[in-house]
Amino acid sequence: MDVKVNDSCIACGACASICDAVFSIEDVAVVDASAVAANEDGVKEAADACPVGAIEIA
Ligand code: SF4
Repeated sequence: MDVKVNDSCIACGACASICDAVFSIEDVAVVDASAVAANEDGVKEAADACPVGAIEIA
């Protein structure tokens, strides 16, 4: 699973509160790619919860 945050991110923090192992908030959300494999359910949940659809899963 490959996860990216696109330019739509408004740094709302929802993804980090759902799955803080993978997402952290700097100016925008940042993905820790090394943590994705162990947290795929959390990544999907965060992507569903993102209010602007900024989390792209490939
Ligand atoms: S939930 Fe979406 S808009 Fe909010 S910080 Fe995460 S990626 Fe950005």
